[in-house]
Amino acid sequence: MSFVDFRNVSKRFGDNVVLDDMSFSIADGERVTLIGPSGSGKTTILRMLMTLTKPDSGTISIDDEYLWHEKRGEELVEASEAHTRSVRSKVTMVFQQFNLFPNMKVLRNITEAPIHVLGKQKDEAEEKARELLETVGLLDKADFYPSQLSGGQQQRVAIARALAVEPEILLLDEVTSALDPEIAAEVLDVLRDVAKTSDVTMLLVTHAMRFARDVSNRVLMFNEGKIIEDAAPEQMFNEPQQERTKTFLRSVL
Ligand code: ADP
Repeated sequence: MSFVDFRNVSKRFGDNVVLDDMSFSIADGERVTLIGPSGSGKTTILRMLMTLTKPDSGTISIDDEYLWHEKRGEELVEASEAHTRSVRSKVTMVFQQFNLFPNMKVLRNITEAPIHVLGKQKDEAEEKARELLETVGLLDKADFYPSQLSGGQQQRVAIARALAVEPEILLLDEVTSALDPEIAAEVLDVLRDVAKTSDVTMLLVTHAMRFARDVSNRVLMFNEGKIIEDAAPEQMFNEPQQERTKTFLRSVL
């Protein structure tokens, strides 16, 4: 059964057709990497799941609930904000630029949403936050401010923060591209662990193909607003079928 479903989704900015009647679905627990040239619509897909970008047409659903629409009988009607917010609450995203709250210590960065959005008790939220900090190897930094941490450490805190709300879907947008390769490696290690130990559904956009190969179990190749190839990583990276995929992979590998 599909867990995330895009049906005939189109989006344009002015004359620029970013998604062209796109349909695909993702099963619960799948870890899917979106690859393709810059501007092919990958980030737009993640932003739509975060409700930061609205499609021009088509439907998107998560766990059989429509994100922008509600089903009334057979009819789809524009959803209330409350409905959209509730469906969207299953999703969190980690950004290229970490986006931690600079005025809050590490622990509070992680407990903020569990306490103020999910209504968890402070003690419980802090205990969970410490567990997550241990998972990402930063328990000793709980009382530091983000500015006192390296980029790689900040990104690991951002991952802990994203997991603290116990999301059903974790979106990762170029999470290592602002980091030096060596530092990026420590972030990738953390994400490999997450992939191994949790059953969260993951959608990631990355140019780090080794990482895509290690972490995901499916790869979608985007080109000019369409998905032109959909395959397991071994197949996509070793035996791509489309000429466009071959030239793209040659340029990034
Ligand atoms: P990718 O992640 O594959 O690089 P994006 O989804 O970020 O691609 O962007 C697809 C296209 O949409 C790009 O050409 C980008 O410039 C354009 N785009 C994205 N957001 C906006 C916006 N808010 N206004 C205008 N154009 C946008």
